[in-house]
Amino acid sequence: MTLFGKLLPRVGGAETRTFRAAVADVLGPRRAPCPACDEGTLVPSTTDLGARICEACGASFPLEVLRQTIVADDETIARVAAASRREALIAFLAADGVAVGSAIWAVAAGGLPTLVGGTALALLLLAFAATARYRAWQVEHRRLFEARPPIGAWLRAETRGD
Ligand SMILES: [Zn+2]
Repeated sequence: MTLFGKLLPRVGGAETRTFRAAVADVLGPRRAPCPACDEGTLVPSTTDLGARICEACGASFPLEVLRQTIVADDETIARVAAASRREALIAFLAADGVAVGSAIWAVAAGGLPTLVGGTALALLLLAFAATARYRAWQVEHRRLFEARPPIGAWLRAETRGD
């Protein structure tokens, strides 16, 4: 069996699905708990762009109201943002380590699957790092519960370096 023959089933198989699920988990929106019943989570309303509804009890909350509920004190905001930035830094360093480590291992052992697996893991960690930085920025700038995720504004802020 060629190296490619061995590699392809791995790439297309269960590992990839798990990887995709992990990516979806990392990149997916973090769902806020329902303030009314504390059991369900809030999901975007299908009929009203400016509202979130609870999956469990069906209560509807305008985004404007939700934004006001998360106006925490400055100390909490700073703590949450700092924790997210720390997560991002750790994930970024881990991604570097995994990328370099798997490359060295792949060269030493001559294994392409090691390199592919290492690259996939490094990309997942980078995605996690980006998500954590985005969350930190969202909290600091109070840009939560917007009808459209403010990803463009975040990217501009990141490239400006503020
Ligand atoms: Zn509810």
